[in-house]
Formats: sequence, C-alpha cells, structure tokens
Amino acid sequence: MIIVMGKTATSEDVQRVIARIEQDGWQAEVSHGAERTVIGVIGTGFPPDYQEHFEAMPGVESATRISKPYKLASRDFKPVDTVIDVSGIQIGGGDFVVMAGPCSVESRDHVVSTAQAVAAHGARLLRGGAFKPRTSPYSFQGLGEEGLEYLAEARAKSGLPVITEVMEPGDVDLVEQYTDVFQIGTRNMQNFPLLRRVGQSRKPVMLKRGMSATIEEWLMASEYILAEGNKNVMLCERGIRTFETMLRNTLDLSAIAMARRLTHLPIIADPSHGTGKWYLVKPMAMAAAAMGADGIIVEVHPDPDHAWSDGPQALTYENFADMMQSLDAVVRATGRQMVSARAAVG
Ligand code: PEP
Ligand code: MN
Repeated sequence: MIIVMGKTATSEDVQRVIARIEQDGWQAEVSHGAERTVIGVIGTGFPPDYQEHFEAMPGVESATRISKPYKLASRDFKPVDTVIDVSGIQIGGGDFVVMAGPCSVESRDHVVSTAQAVAAHGARLLRGGAFKPRTSPYSFQGLGEEGLEYLAEARAKSGLPVITEVMEPGDVDLVEQYTDVFQIGTRNMQNFPLLRRVGQSRKPVMLKRGMSATIEEWLMASEYILAEGNKNVMLCERGIRTFETMLRNTLDLSAIAMARRLTHLPIIADPSHGTGKWYLVKPMAMAAAAMGADGIIVEVHPDPDHAWSDGPQALTYENFADMMQSLDAVVRATGRQMVSARAAVG
C-alpha cells in the first residue's frame, strides 16, 4: 500500500503514520520527494478496509493499494528516478554512462591496459569478471581473488571504478573489498540467497535480467535486494532466449522502455551479451541510447581472437572508439550528455 502525504503535511503527520504502520506490525518505507512524502507499507494480507484508517489521518492525501507484486521497485512508490552515485559517477536520472572492459580478467597487464584504453575513449566504469559463470565446467572459470586484485590495480591506474560479478553469497564479503558495483549475472537473477546477501550491503548492485525471465520476475528479483535495505540497484537488459539462432540472445529493447515506465531504477543495456556479435554492438548500443537507457555495459578486448571468454562479441580498442563517437551523437540528440567524471578514484 502507498500512502501519499499532502503538500502541507508536517513531519509530525508523517511520524504518526509511520508509528501506526509499525504498531500494526508492518514495515514503513519512506520516500521523500521534492514536493511530497510517500510512505510504502510493506507486507501482505492487509485487512480489507485498511487504507481507510490512513485516509482519515491528518496530512494524508491518499492511501492506495498497489496491485503490482513489486512495491519498492515501482514508480507508484517512488515516482522520481533513482540516481546511484558510484565514486562520483552518477548513474540514472538523465545522463548516459558507459561501462567497458573485458569479459574475464586474464592477467594484470591485460586488464590494466584495457582499462586505460577504454578510459581514454570515455568509459566511466571498468567491467571485468574474476568469478565467471561458464556453461561448461571445463571452460576458464576466472582468476578469482587474483583477478579482483588486478581489477583494483586497474582502477588505481585508470581512475575507473570497477563493476564485477559475484556468484555466491559466501563471496560477497571478499568481492565487496575490491569492487565498486556488484554484478549479478543472468544465471543468478533468481538466486534468492545471493540477492538477499547483496541487499544487506550498501554497495550498488547491477541486476542482469535472467535470460528467460519476464519483466515482472526481473523486477521481483530487484525487490529482494531493495527489501533488504540496499536502495542502490540498477537493472541490466542483457538479451533473452528466443527462437532466433543467428544471435546469441535477443536484446529486448522494448523491455527497457517497459521497465522505465514501471520502475524508478536506472536501466543499463548490454549489447555484447545481447547479440553475441561484435559488429552488432555499436548499432544496438546506439539504439539503447536512443530509447533512453541510462547507459551500456560492453565487452572490449585488446585481441578478441585470443580472448579467454566471449571473444566473438568483444570490441577492439578501435571499434570501441568508433562506437563511442556514434554514441555521443545519439546521446546528444536525445538531449542528454555522457556522464562526466566528477571524482577520481585511486
Ligand atoms: C558477463 O557479463 O560476462 C556475463 C557472464 O554476463 P551474463 O550474466 O549476462 O551472461
Ligand atoms: Mn561475457
């Protein structure tokens, strides 16, 4: 249920509503907007006329039940876009951010040089996997903690904050020591213990859409993180399974537009996994920017033919530079800018 306070409601009015919610055994989630305060009543099984109690209270404008199963993620609860600050880089709320780097961290030199190259061409976050969810147990599984150390070194040398995947709850503490953003991969979108665990952290989380998940399931997964108290959640559309065999996945651009309508969380597109082909990354990145995604995450490799994972979808440095130029024009055409680096990390 959502309780919207009137424009003239006092903080005592708000406190009285919160006290009533807690006294009845529910949880209150308060969102302060520029004009008014919205209070979410979190729980299920409210009595049939429960909203009427609140409508009668001073300062309350309306009390409405949310029929959607996701609450904290919904725009009904928080109409204003969420903006996530990652070491001075603002994600969401207008401008466009580019995250780039290799699929897997392969060596110190590999990730440091890739980080420097993508930074020089306007990337604002460095991506790279140290723990890799591979389809085959015989494929390269990532360098683990050694990979995290190289990522931290690449951050210090390039100034780019890091986003890297965490695959299990028991690794969250370790990964947290190195990363600036947790990535939850497509295969783990419904790993509920993992979602809860990153929800207990306050570090930003990028939640990739499950390759066979509906938009509602994706939002419900974000709700698990939000419900634990971590409000720094962004969504990532990374392509879904369809009948098409020519593409690795089908990047579902309509899901970005739909999610934008349904949720206040920032939305990132991944045209690398979304297509599986390096030559489709630029057009799909431009399309994602044109339709209002808050940013993209793309794979870049100094030598894609010899990449240890996902070579066919990796951009060379030259291709990345070329994409960034085209992207800049599209971002400007939508009345936005590329996110600027306001703070250096190191
Ligand atoms: C990745 O980012 O390299 C990755 C494994 O992504 P996904 O979970 O979308 O397959
Ligand atoms: Mn990959």
